[in-house]
Amino acid sequence: MAKINSNYLKLAAGYLFPEIARRVNAFTSENPDAAAKLIRCGIGDVTEPLPESVRGAMHAAIDEMGTPEGFHGYGPEQGYGFLREAIAKNIYNDRGINISDDEIFVSDGSKCDSANILDIFGEGNTIAVTDPVYPVYVDTNVMVGNTGDAGNNGGYEGLVYLECNATNGFVPAIPSFPVDIIYLCYPNNPTGTVATRDELTAWVTYAKKHGSVILYDAAYSAFIQGENIPKSIYEIEGARECAIEFRSFSKDGGFTGTRCAYTVVPKDLMGKTDDGKDQSLHSLWARRQSTKFNGVSYVVQRGAEALFSDQGKAEVSKLISGYMENAKLLTDACTALGLDVFGGKDAPYVWVRCPEGVSSWEMFDKMLNEAQVVITPGSGFGAAGEGYFRISAFNSKEKVEDVCKRIAALA
Ligand SMILES: *Cc1c(COP(=O)(O)O)cnc(C)c1O
Repeated sequence: MAKINSNYLKLAAGYLFPEIARRVNAFTSENPDAAAKLIRCGIGDVTEPLPESVRGAMHAAIDEMGTPEGFHGYGPEQGYGFLREAIAKNIYNDRGINISDDEIFVSDGSKCDSANILDIFGEGNTIAVTDPVYPVYVDTNVMVGNTGDAGNNGGYEGLVYLECNATNGFVPAIPSFPVDIIYLCYPNNPTGTVATRDELTAWVTYAKKHGSVILYDAAYSAFIQGENIPKSIYEIEGARECAIEFRSFSKDGGFTGTRCAYTVVPKDLMGKTDDGKDQSLHSLWARRQSTKFNGVSYVVQRGAEALFSDQGKAEVSKLISGYMENAKLLTDACTALGLDVFGGKDAPYVWVRCPEGVSSWEMFDKMLNEAQVVITPGSGFGAAGEGYFRISAFNSKEKVEDVCKRIAALA
């Protein structure tokens, strides 16, 4: 008999989106008329069409593929040089950050990379995540056996949960003990908040002191509006020696369905072998990718490259301003209702405190029943998310304006 990976059986607690779907389905079958008015502000997916510059580059790449000279078979596992160079230049070097193109690994997604990265780390690491948290970091650690069972509050034994709340601005306090791996995501999903330069500096200092690795998810970096908010962990001195950065074209370029992202593993970054020697993580990740991954399609990488053209930059900037205007409208609508609102300034998520005494799921039901708006209950992202809900700004302006009217009518 084939034995299964029984770690997967610990995952029963991962019920957030199925439970949302269950409640929405129950509502729509009981209220077919109201159901037609339903607006989904739940899942973090973009809604606006793929930029013209991207489509043009992809069309041209397809035509190239139809010629003997322009045909591309397997590409380099780490990504084509043209895309890695464009990323190194536009995202890092032009902003004064020292990252070279061969430290960039192009992939089919940050979700996949932030999961796959566990391949190059050994057993027995102490792993810290924030609470609330993007569930992928937690579930992938469960899958590889880095945790015990789920406890009563939905957390897993063996993981360190760093509480994020209104008091600490949703950036966790530095632990008083060492951890080996820390997941940080800023701008944050789900809270939409950012980490300041001082806060990130404190994390880099801590990581260097303890030899920890920071897994920094900057998927929403392009949404940052604030002048002095770091867009990359590598803006912090010393981060090349302690951090891996995940970036994606999903949210800024509208690539959630097209699939292209990248991970930066600096050559200065070391882990420890079992006998206590330094080992480059860059060479391990290069080995991992070339063995288990065969690259992103040529057509898609040409599309991603086009995001760095003048036209592409203008289109991205327009997409982002549209979503950020939505976030502002949603923020204002919730504030007018007398609710405390966080995030929404440098990220497409608005994180709202429920009225006194109302739980996240009670708020979910109220918004569904009384406004036909689907939000995400904060408690689904961890125990510390209880008493909050998330509204996504990924929607058309018309729908957001409609949502705001319905929120106002709740008063
Ligand atoms: C959307 C998102 C990503 C991007 O994932 P892809 O696989 O690149 O689409 C990464 N991290 C977080 C926290 C996200 O919300």
